[in-house]
Amino acid sequence: MLKKQIEAWVIRDIGATEFDHWDPVLRFATRLSVRTSIIASIMVAGILTLLHALDVLLNPLARDLLIGCGIALVVSFTLTMLCSMYMGYAVIHLARTRLEFQQMSRTDMLSGLLNRRAFIEDVSTVERGQLLILDIDRFKHINDRYGHMAGDDVIVSVAGTIAQVVGQPHMVARIGGEEFAVLFRDADFAEAQLIAEKLRRSIANRPVEAFHQTIAVTVSGGIADITPLRDFSAVYAAADRALYLAKSSGRNRIVHERDLMRGAYIEPMSPDRPDAAISVA
Ligand code: GH3
Ligand code: MG
Ligand code: MG
Repeated sequence: MLKKQIEAWVIRDIGATEFDHWDPVLRFATRLSVRTSIIASIMVAGILTLLHALDVLLNPLARDLLIGCGIALVVSFTLTMLCSMYMGYAVIHLARTRLEFQQMSRTDMLSGLLNRRAFIEDVSTVERGQLLILDIDRFKHINDRYGHMAGDDVIVSVAGTIAQVVGQPHMVARIGGEEFAVLFRDADFAEAQLIAEKLRRSIANRPVEAFHQTIAVTVSGGIADITPLRDFSAVYAAADRALYLAKSSGRNRIVHERDLMRGAYIEPMSPDRPDAAISVA
């Protein structure tokens, strides 16, 4: 019974506290120290009274109580404070390590963007917006020609441009080797198309300097609507179909799934017309 009450008391105290910084640890330690020092003083007072009743102590009871309880208060408060601060430090350290680990498990190590798993997790909670999938064009050729390390630099550079152009409140991730995804939160078709085009142009106009070489990079993209009635895999498949059309019609362009639905075709790209237009058939 007493054990249960103590357990409930301690658990309630710890449960109400988030040990992720020093303030709550200090509050918890002080509360616990006050309680233990009160309990220690009561116990010492009881023992002293008993010893007096047995005539073991010769001094006046009041004086013994004052000295005994005073010592009990100071010693138990100090010891409990030290122990709980020490314990709190360990818990804070654990909490911070856990947070770092959580962040690492959500981050793509090369680009610093969100990784695929974290992106899918977050997108699944969104009901409205637009999903853009971007894929670097002819990336295998970049690797073959400039080397894998230069390819990595291209990925990092493209990731930086996407993060910079897209900005808040939207979300950016690297979801595969040379594939990126952007979630345009609460954005409509026109807004997503506008930013995606700006993104495509920025990447095309910003060659990457890697290992003393200048590498021209372009991306293709597919966009699809996120609606409450569609799950993520349906949205992703639609964006992927649009991306496929962007690739097959010449690359370095953005296609929206609506262009597919209304039977649009895209003029093949020619050297003198790099920005081929989407036209309705
Ligand atoms: P497309 O225009 O059709 O997208 O052609 P692509 O060459 O970009 O596409 P493909 O899928 O044929 O090749 C992608 C290449 O990306 C193959 C793979 O070796 C390379 N790759 C994947 N992940 C990484 C990475 O982290 N770093 C580097 N340097 N290369 C990567
Ligand atoms: Mg790809
Ligand atoms: Mg590619």
